[in-house]
Amino acid sequence: MLEDLAFPIERLGQAVTDVQLLFEKYKYENGIIFGHAKDGNLHFVISQGFFTKEDIDRFEHFNQDLFDLVLNKYDGALKAEHSTGRAVSAFVEKEWGPAAYRVMKRLKNVIDPANLLNPGIIITEDKQAHVHDLKVMPVVEEEVDKCIECGYCEQSCPSRDLTLTPRRRIVIRRAIKRMEDTGDRAGRKALLKDYRYDGMETGAVDGMCGELPGEH
Ligand code: SF4
Repeated sequence: MLEDLAFPIERLGQAVTDVQLLFEKYKYENGIIFGHAKDGNLHFVISQGFFTKEDIDRFEHFNQDLFDLVLNKYDGALKAEHSTGRAVSAFVEKEWGPAAYRVMKRLKNVIDPANLLNPGIIITEDKQAHVHDLKVMPVVEEEVDKCIECGYCEQSCPSRDLTLTPRRRIVIRRAIKRMEDTGDRAGRKALLKDYRYDGMETGAVDGMCGELPGEH
């Protein structure tokens, strides 16, 4: 989870302490906080698996407490500089109130009556959207596992207009691993075939794609 909160700047110090206390309460010992202090904008990263119901419950309760902290204790904002995605869409009405949310829904309906554009993102009827369809990131290898798919490499990768960026390579490595884990042999074979050119033969020698998975 990579978040993007805003707090009133004069209470930012206390807010940092409160977020750290939530890390402790929910045992996110690896949580890190960074951001743009002069703007009252905090990012933080926590990581966890979603393998069991307990994992998902922990994430759910952490989210409830966090968003309660931001909205009710600090009158802050759930999004400061990035957009609202699946993890926050269930809380948009809580943040802006039912009247503003109704206006958002009407606007969305005017622009996109068939709800084709980004369904379930920002505007959603699913009040548990943040814990549904969680993206599984399987363990692949040390170098790949460090990637949080932030996308910063998209702009700087010299091969981006020809082939895959590091993030895209990593996303495909993870997809291949998921297929291995679920026994999808045909899907894995097809991805590996395409990966030879897109992932191996046209890389910019960045080291992330030095070995084709499963073909050592
Ligand atoms: S490889 Fe790219 S997407 Fe992954 S953490 Fe590094 S910059 Fe972000």
